[in-house]
Amino acid sequence: MIYTGGTIGMKQDLRDQTLKPFDFDQILDEVPELGKYALRIDSYTFDPLIDSSDVEPSLWQSLATLIRDRYDDYDGFVVLHGTDTMAYSASALSFMLENLSKPVVFTGSQLPIGVPRTDGKENLVSAVEIASAKDPEGHPLVPEVCIYFDSLLMRGNRSTKVSSEEFRAFRSPNCPPLAEAGINIKYNRKVIMKPALWSAPLQISTSLDTRVSILKVHPGITPQVMRHFLCSDAVRAVILETYGSGNAPSSQWFIDIVKEAAGMEKVLINVTQCLSGTVDMDLYATGKALEKAGVISGKDITTESALAKLFYLMGKSPDNRWVKARLGDNLKGEISE
Ligand code: ASP
Repeated sequence: MIYTGGTIGMKQDLRDQTLKPFDFDQILDEVPELGKYALRIDSYTFDPLIDSSDVEPSLWQSLATLIRDRYDDYDGFVVLHGTDTMAYSASALSFMLENLSKPVVFTGSQLPIGVPRTDGKENLVSAVEIASAKDPEGHPLVPEVCIYFDSLLMRGNRSTKVSSEEFRAFRSPNCPPLAEAGINIKYNRKVIMKPALWSAPLQISTSLDTRVSILKVHPGITPQVMRHFLCSDAVRAVILETYGSGNAPSSQWFIDIVKEAAGMEKVLINVTQCLSGTVDMDLYATGKALEKAGVISGKDITTESALAKLFYLMGKSPDNRWVKARLGDNLKGEISE
């Protein structure tokens, strides 16, 4: 169990009335139920513990390295993480952990584990059960990076935070849940991915290139703003968050700036602003124009996952043509085929 911080382990600081992280032993004291499983649970606590709004790619690199170093010692890993950036971290780890054949289950909570109505206990206990579950052949049931939250197990790189208030804080709109917890935990074995080779050794890819900007297209967008996001020297790739099935304004200046960025060899990916559904640039003339200008379809990927995929692919190669060629591939179940 790897504790990085987040609401699940926070306590009210009586001095300034804000939530601050407390230490891991106190979390375990709150969940004696874990002792009822015949499991050995070791814990690793990050220092400092953070609110996940402070997550940086360096945390993903530390997490990947920790999991790689301890990989052979455990059947599975549970990562306690704040909800705000959990979908980003789970997406990143899904790409960085190559040949994964054990569960890595992210969880957290909306209410701290010490408060009476907390959702943290159920999330934590079920995440542990899932991380240790095996099939009759002795293989892990869920050898994927996933998020467990409010009875749903979701693929990490398909999940997104949808509520700052409800216990059901995460959804996976374009991919069915990997499991649902009721009286029993029902695994959706048709959706869960299996490694090509169970015995392949885990490899990690920790080199990440973060030179990505995200532009949410909106009515009233100006050429100045657009050029800033697409053509700046500081940017190697751009996620264009477009309307509906991948549509954007058809004005000539808009297309010209996209072409200008494509001419500068920027990697441009089209992701929909909609919570569910896919980009299909062949559907409308406005989408077609983007495709012609050199924008790659992100299909039904989430923005969090597109960002992590770009960091990962660009970290692997300085060649933008190679990155563009791999971007449409389904690497870790992050897009539907
Ligand atoms: N701000 C918190 C965090 O993401 C919220 C949470 O954990 O739910 O760390």
